Amino acid sequence: MTILPREIFSPEHVTLRDSARKFFEREVLPYHREWEKAGVAPRSVWKRAGEAGLLCVALPEEYGSAGFDRLASAILIEEQARLGLSGPGFSTHSDIVAPYILNYGTEEQKRRWLPAMVSGDKIGAIVLTEPSAGSDLRAIRTTAVREGDEFVLNGQKTFITNGQCADLLLVAAKPAQGFGSKKLTLIVVEADRRGVARGKNLEKIGMKAQDTCELFFENVRVPVNNMLGEEGAGFPLLSKELAWERLQIAIGAVATSTAALEWTRDYTRDRKAFGTKIADFQNTRFRLAEIKTEIEIAQAFVDRCLVEVNRSKLDVTAAAMAKYWCTELMGRTLDQCLQLHGGYGYMWEYPIARAYADARVHRIYGGSNEIMREIIARTIWSGAPEA
Ligand SMILES: Cc1cc2nc3c(=O)[nH]c(=O)nc-3n(C[C@H](O)[C@H](O)[C@H](O)COP(=O)(O)OP(=O)(O)OC[C@H]3O[C@@H](n4cnc5c(N)ncnc54)[C@H](O)[C@@H]3O)c2cc1C
Repeated sequence: MTILPREIFSPEHVTLRDSARKFFEREVLPYHREWEKAGVAPRSVWKRAGEAGLLCVALPEEYGSAGFDRLASAILIEEQARLGLSGPGFSTHSDIVAPYILNYGTEEQKRRWLPAMVSGDKIGAIVLTEPSAGSDLRAIRTTAVREGDEFVLNGQKTFITNGQCADLLLVAAKPAQGFGSKKLTLIVVEADRRGVARGKNLEKIGMKAQDTCELFFENVRVPVNNMLGEEGAGFPLLSKELAWERLQIAIGAVATSTAALEWTRDYTRDRKAFGTKIADFQNTRFRLAEIKTEIEIAQAFVDRCLVEVNRSKLDVTAAAMAKYWCTELMGRTLDQCLQLHGGYGYMWEYPIARAYADARVHRIYGGSNEIMREIIARTIWSGAPEA
């Protein structure tokens, strides 16, 4: 609960939050530990989320969605984070892959793919990173060479969220002549096409119920009408969409920090040392007061960015600031909250331990925090008079 009221949500949003909370508590939370062991969430939970109207909520109604907005997407991210449910990659599917199709697809492509994404019949993945191209997407080596009405794809990708279960792979590839340049083509590849192979599920230090894997493309033939936008013109589309992706990471980071504060409040209220509640030590009170203040500040900035993104005006630098600062805040918060749990904080059965492990990657993916600082730094000197 924030001190400053969050006034950005409508009564419909509040109702959505309530039903999302019930859904996650009923359909995801009880099974999450099982899925951590399996390394993947089952397809059935995707179907159930679709039936509950909780996939692709920001798409227009004409594609089968409830027709909410990006504030609704934020609510779903917050509710998943609140319960530490890092398993099903719903936001990658609903709020990264689907917007590319909506914003850059033809009407035929939208009708072909979006309703099945809303229902959970088709799961999406964003397929950019390669073994030697992460931060620097110009170094992508996967090629999409045009032959008549088809592209022929060859290459290897890695670290792909939803990689094991995805049906629709949004792949970034180079045109034949594009190495080292910003030329990229974005193509939706159906995962059951001949020549697409999935590598083994990668073992991660956290987010264990989320499937992350390598993907291989060997002479995969894809019709040209699976391309989003123009050939070789994908790079600006990525830059545009990444702002919202980064804000989503910030939203989750603030929600996780809030949850960590609440878990720690409850734990330190019950636990005693030297005959005193841990909550009554000044060290505990000061640490949690600092954390609460920082979360409050972060929430105000994120909510302001949410208003901007909802009117399609989110500034790339503001998104980079939100992603960088909120994920650093989450790192500090989880470290301190875990410390206040003592040895129990290191035990996997405690949500603080799992959140600590899950959180680390948020400073790396979606553009590392070093890249975020670069984006922010550029604005400091641009337009300033020469010294
Ligand atoms: C769990 C997980 C899920 C992921 N999901 C997806 C997904 O669904 N789809 C997808 O395409 N990718 C995904 N990724 C990949 C992720 O986006 C990349 O790992 C990330 O962009 C960093 O790239 P890299 O790993 O190649 O690191 P590198 O680019 O090799 O960076 C290594 C280090 O160098 C630093 N560095 C790089 N360039 C600079 C610079 N110019 N200035 C200063 N420092 C720099 C980086 O910040 C980092 O600290 C995922 C990764 C993980 C771990």
